Amino acid sequence: MKITAVHAHCLASALETPFAFSQGWVKSRGACLVEVQTDDGLTGWGEALCQGLQPPQIAAATIESALKPLLIGADPLQIEPLWQRMYMHTRDYGMKGATIAALSGVDIALWDIAGKRLGQPVWQLLGGAFRERVQVYATGFYRVSGQGEAARLAEEAAQRAEEGFRLLKIKLGFGLEDDLAVMRAVARAIESRGLRLMIDTNHAYGVADAVRLGRALAPLELRWYEEPVAAEDLAGYGELRAKLDVPIAGGENEFTVFGFRQLLAARAVDIAQPDVCAAGGFTACRHIAALSLAHGVQVNPHVWGSSVGQAASLHLICALPLANPSLFADEPIFEYDCSSHPFRETLVERPLRQRAGWLERPDGPGLGIEVNRETVQRLEAHARP
Ligand code: CA
Repeated sequence: MKITAVHAHCLASALETPFAFSQGWVKSRGACLVEVQTDDGLTGWGEALCQGLQPPQIAAATIESALKPLLIGADPLQIEPLWQRMYMHTRDYGMKGATIAALSGVDIALWDIAGKRLGQPVWQLLGGAFRERVQVYATGFYRVSGQGEAARLAEEAAQRAEEGFRLLKIKLGFGLEDDLAVMRAVARAIESRGLRLMIDTNHAYGVADAVRLGRALAPLELRWYEEPVAAEDLAGYGELRAKLDVPIAGGENEFTVFGFRQLLAARAVDIAQPDVCAAGGFTACRHIAALSLAHGVQVNPHVWGSSVGQAASLHLICALPLANPSLFADEPIFEYDCSSHPFRETLVERPLRQRAGWLERPDGPGLGIEVNRETVQRLEAHARP
């Protein structure tokens, strides 16, 4: 079997209501999908993650100009050799960011092809599944006007509880006073419902303010505190771990086993959060999972992609071991983005839907998805300048 074509599809769709996280306003949803075709007639799909403010064209240019020439004519089942080839070829100008997201999209498509060829779901090819279903947590709680939205966010929390979510992650980083007002209102809204909360500031603060926020929220016994400081500030992460009892999570802006080696060696996090569509695909996440296991650190992936990225993430989570297993250990959970995403519903047949707070293990070959080409074509037109 040989690779005959590689396409990067840039998709975009404007949001009716732009929303903010601590780093800026998200005005449209973008995705860079990767399609790999073979002479056997098989097609694999992958996705290069577009973080909130990231245009899909950066990864697409990498795929078309740097990766495609390495792939045409190659055997798509040579997944690890191809990963090494792509990484080493781009190393001098890549290593992180959109270059590795591009590589991730190709890698995911190759695993999809392998699964389709062998008639097995990707989690099976990764070595098997540790779980038959995965609990979801609600990500959302973005701002639509800025500060002063505690009451609206509390309503959103109550609504998520009604929908079956038992775990909520609240976006903070809008100023300490505003953050604390939001958390007081959210905690009140879900009081006595037995839900657990997490927070994510998207590295809005330096160490001192990040510590003040963590200390003020200690009574909530958060499941984790995500991206408290900038991804580059490993010493800052270490300080937070020393000063706070809450588990510290991070890694959505870290890449490959080389990047995670530094994060883990610095003992910067309790929970490592690679995104399969950004950190280097399934191949890199396998490396990262093994290294994290050796450091006693749980991997709990970041998930923010389109339906393709969501499917890949679910396969990965099914196949992740527990770093510290016990009878009643916390299992890795799926980041279920509840914010506006105009094309998730139509991009694949049977998009993911949580039921009573859970997702079932997928059972189709490869990623187990069927991409809707009409949606791809319609959204590609929106992405053209
Ligand atoms: Ca995050």
